Amino acid sequence: MADPAQSGPCRACGGVGYLVEQVLGHPARARRCDCQAACPRCGESGYVLVQNGPSAVAQPCACRRLDERIALFNRIGIPAAVALASFDTFRAWSPDHAAAKAAAEDFARKFRGDRPTKGFLLYGRPGAGKTHLLCAALRWLALEKGVGSRYVEFMLLLSDMKSGFDANRSHMEVLRPLLQVPVLAIDELGKERGTDWERSMLDELISRRFNAGLTTLFATNYFLEDRAVPESPGRSVNTRSAQFQRDAESMTLAQRVGDRIYSRLNEMCVFVKLDPGHDLRKERADAGSAGFWKG
Ligand SMILES: [Zn+2]
Ligand SMILES: [Zn+2]
Repeated sequence: MADPAQSGPCRACGGVGYLVEQVLGHPARARRCDCQAACPRCGESGYVLVQNGPSAVAQPCACRRLDERIALFNRIGIPAAVALASFDTFRAWSPDHAAAKAAAEDFARKFRGDRPTKGFLLYGRPGAGKTHLLCAALRWLALEKGVGSRYVEFMLLLSDMKSGFDANRSHMEVLRPLLQVPVLAIDELGKERGTDWERSMLDELISRRFNAGLTTLFATNYFLEDRAVPESPGRSVNTRSAQFQRDAESMTLAQRVGDRIYSRLNEMCVFVKLDPGHDLRKERADAGSAGFWKG
């Protein structure tokens, strides 16, 4: 496959030069495709000679850029469950899905590191593919544009902040890694209401990122306005915990994160609705091996 004379793109990677692998229990990992194992351009030296007037100058080979992009991808922390998430693998099967995919893709394509780029916030009930789209955008930024990012789940972010604080690290020490990465994606925003201290840390994190011209993306299961949560037949509604669950689900995002953070989100992000209408994950399980997901 390394033979450059062979016609057509590599069948393993489609010609992009990298493969992304899904290993359960580990974040997504990318690696060079075998077709790139021995670079035909530089012979693995990492440099190529480019004619510049009468003399030849050494320039970094494109394969080095590929390695740098693969390393950026491997630092994102994409969860194993969505390791293979990309724009290509996202099924835009409803108008909501098509519009949300278009918004995420537009963001990724237009992103520039040298000026602030407004992010996006995806909202809607679980099972619509919000995490998939977040990770597809981060993947595209890393592998196609060489832009670094980090993916964090909100609950883990809070517990990391708290354990850092418990270990007597200053709050700036705790926040610093998240203040430097060009794009940060926070998933499951509002899942935990958080203590006042946790909320003020979150507020500081996203405000500092905004003021520094850095982009933050979000996904949340909470809606922007009040809505009635229907009683689903498969769920026991007679228990107190079920009632509590329904009350929590009917809260708005502003109620979950507080007005202060909510108004910052408005400044930082375009709000994009991505709601399954019905639970896609349940449907996938019900559909079994039927062709639903292949179409
Ligand atoms: Zn290949
Ligand atoms: Zn090379």
